[in-house]
Amino acid sequence: MATAMSVSAVTPAAAAVSRRRTMVCVPATARAPREMAEELAAAAALGADLAELRLDCLAGFAPRRDLPVILAKPRPLPALVTYRPKWEGGKYEGDDESRFEALLLAMELGAEYVDVELKVADKFMKLISGRKPDNCKLIVSSHNYESTPSSEELANLVAQIQATGADIVKIATTATEIVDVAKMFQILVHCQVPIIGLVMNDRGFISRVLCPKYGGFLTFGSLKKGKESAPAQPTAADLINVYNIRQIGPDTKVFGIIGKPVGHSKSPILHNEAFRSVGFNAVYVPFLVDDLAKFLNTYSSPDFAGFSCTIPHKEAAVRCCDEVDPIARDIGAVNTIVRRPDGKLVGYNTDYVGAISAIEDGIRAFEQRDPDTSPLAGRLFVVIGAGGAGKALAYGAKEKGARVVIANRTFARAQELANLIGGPALTLADLENYHPEEGMILANTTAIGMHPNVNETPLSKQALKSYAVVFDAVYTPKETRLLREAAECGATVVSGLEMFIRQAMGQFEHFTGMPVDDYKFRAIGNTMTPL
Ligand code: NAP
Repeated sequence: MATAMSVSAVTPAAAAVSRRRTMVCVPATARAPREMAEELAAAAALGADLAELRLDCLAGFAPRRDLPVILAKPRPLPALVTYRPKWEGGKYEGDDESRFEALLLAMELGAEYVDVELKVADKFMKLISGRKPDNCKLIVSSHNYESTPSSEELANLVAQIQATGADIVKIATTATEIVDVAKMFQILVHCQVPIIGLVMNDRGFISRVLCPKYGGFLTFGSLKKGKESAPAQPTAADLINVYNIRQIGPDTKVFGIIGKPVGHSKSPILHNEAFRSVGFNAVYVPFLVDDLAKFLNTYSSPDFAGFSCTIPHKEAAVRCCDEVDPIARDIGAVNTIVRRPDGKLVGYNTDYVGAISAIEDGIRAFEQRDPDTSPLAGRLFVVIGAGGAGKALAYGAKEKGARVVIANRTFARAQELANLIGGPALTLADLENYHPEEGMILANTTAIGMHPNVNETPLSKQALKSYAVVFDAVYTPKETRLLREAAECGATVVSGLEMFIRQAMGQFEHFTGMPVDDYKFRAIGNTMTPL
């Protein structure tokens, strides 16, 4: 079911006609004029299209002395000059007259774009009347640091900005939930004039990457991490190299990982590179989602073609899909959703094969056994965790003939899964003294030990001595404390990165309909730099 603000009604192909390619703009926020000019040169070296010179960041700024330094020609990139007052989220605290004079001087010195706020646009227009050079374009901007108004209110805002005589409209709002971004996409797609439409903070992140699909005039990318000029701004390098923003257009399919949190995920690096390697016209983004059903109802267009699901949405995903693959239904967790041509959402689980095959191959590397029998057959297999990954591991181990034990923080959930699998349940405290036999296999499927909590571990080193094989689903960092201590105890260890690469291979096949090139995919996975 599509909601009123669903992007199912948005037709980017039609709307983005005659718009130029979305530019990548790097904010230059140095405190000294020469450093600001150097930031502009660094932005050019990154492959950006222009730099935003934030005059309000300069310490002791003197326009007649400093602007000729910052705007000196030849300049490696066009300049967008912004002198943002405090009342609109900037740092300038003086009067408008001096600010306007500086902006006018920037125009005269050859700035290609100048930004002025809607609230004072009329006043500024009067000042520059007959004095604005033809090659300078005026951006009139509006910033909302609290919320994203309705589509109707945004449309009114666009009309108000257009009425000032702006060459380019800029609207920046704040996302309180990811569905807010759909309202901005609707505005971008229907706007008849060049428009910058961005939604700030991490729930608005997709607006920064997907704006080329909807015809946005530019998107901001920072020079490096820590140099952002707005919350959740990606780096220009990530926009260009990870998200392949130059290739995104109206027909580009959108895939992504739905989770909360999701910022740690390496899936965008892996999938975008995999798409690029086979020339598949698609982009893969992180979706920070609070309410899965609302997200799926809002982004219901065929362009939103498939999703990976992670914490905490894998179980809810079973209920949200129109059809669920029988194995995923048995496991009770969906980690992959594909939108079929008829619009129906189909759920799969690729965690199961990814994890189990990784553990089997890890054991086979050390043990010679009958190749037709799983090395898990007959072994005691302890799963810590009873969430999505826990269910997949427990189901998979059982399928391979292992005797499965479940240990979980919430004991009732351990019992529920153990009943399903037909094995015993333990508390985490019980697990510390659990060693009924030698040669057991341990699989951690909780987030314990995941970055940034890298000093945490689900089981003491003493207790690890009973295990012959230890697997950790956590893959940031690649070597968790659990795996390090298990290796010190002499166990065979299997990294979550191996599962990560394998489950992503399964997703790639579902998303693209193409067979995965195992070797190429693994090469991409292994070049990622886990934290
Ligand atoms: P989930 O469905 O939310 O389940 C989380 C499980 O972890 C639950 O059993 C939960 O116990 C337990 N847990 C969470 N925090 C805990 C803590 N502080 N102490 C003890 N137990 C805790 O999540 P999921 O999707 O299964 O993912 C779990 C982990 O596996 C994540 O780290 C994820 O990144 C990783 N993973 C890795 C891959 C890969 O490819 N390598 C694939 C999938 C998942 P309660 O029941 O008590 O809440």
